[in-house]
Amino acid sequence: MLIGCHVSISGSIDKAVNNAIERKCSAFQIFTRNPRGWKAKELIDEDIKNFKNKLKENNIDRFSTCAHMPYLPNLSSPKEDGLEKSVNSLIEEVERCGKLGIPYLVTHLGSHLGTGEDAGIKRLVKGLTKAAQVKNDVMILLENTAGQKNSVGSDFKQLGEIFKQLKPVKKFGVCFDTCHAFVSGYDLRTEKDVKETFKTFDKYVGMENLKILHLNDAKGELGCNLDRHYHIGLGNIGKEGMIAVIKLIAKKKIPIILETPIDDIRDDFENVKIAKELA
Ligand code: MN
Ligand code: MN
Ligand code: ZN
Repeated sequence: MLIGCHVSISGSIDKAVNNAIERKCSAFQIFTRNPRGWKAKELIDEDIKNFKNKLKENNIDRFSTCAHMPYLPNLSSPKEDGLEKSVNSLIEEVERCGKLGIPYLVTHLGSHLGTGEDAGIKRLVKGLTKAAQVKNDVMILLENTAGQKNSVGSDFKQLGEIFKQLKPVKKFGVCFDTCHAFVSGYDLRTEKDVKETFKTFDKYVGMENLKILHLNDAKGELGCNLDRHYHIGLGNIGKEGMIAVIKLIAKKKIPIILETPIDDIRDDFENVKIAKELA
């Protein structure tokens, strides 16, 4: 089973591998840079080398690693300069992943900010297509969202329609977030619910396009659109649902990444350990 969590790159990017190993992760996710700003510090050759060497030394396949886009870019934005900055940031991240040998870059689809879904999706598809021109083997993964107001991509049917517009196909895949799906109204509480939800996902998006799974329990109720992740098994999805998801995804050898909170109840060491036990 390929499982792990989002880890920090604090210090230098190769430290991410140390953090992953400490947490007994066989898969992990990083931000390649500070996620809260627009500017990224350039990657240093020495750090890239160390990152790759550490993966090798610890037998972590690069296909079990992924990066997540920073927070500020909005690929559906109606604001011209904001949109341009967002697309440039996506292009930059695709390039950074390429240098690091990270094959998957997870991105949110953004917000149309009240200008309507169709207009937002048009801008989104244009930006994604532009970023796909970067010549490396990095795949951009569209992540299903929690369905907050004006957001794009929480509905599987819509996600599928967006996905089908993207070319070249080999540059795109999908990341499924369990918390986001649940708060968007896709039930995952029982084994039957999980099967049903992934059947719907397969119908519209295609399981073959699923490259990364974000395993998060949900603080909010089914369909509440609240993007708050919770500890594995302790949220409103609960233990039975989490077990069913892990089993289904582990069988397909798709990396499972936790993005759970760190608080007094549990930390990430603990959540990774519990997720493994549930399997
Ligand atoms: Mn995300
Ligand atoms: Mn996620
Ligand atoms: Zn989230």
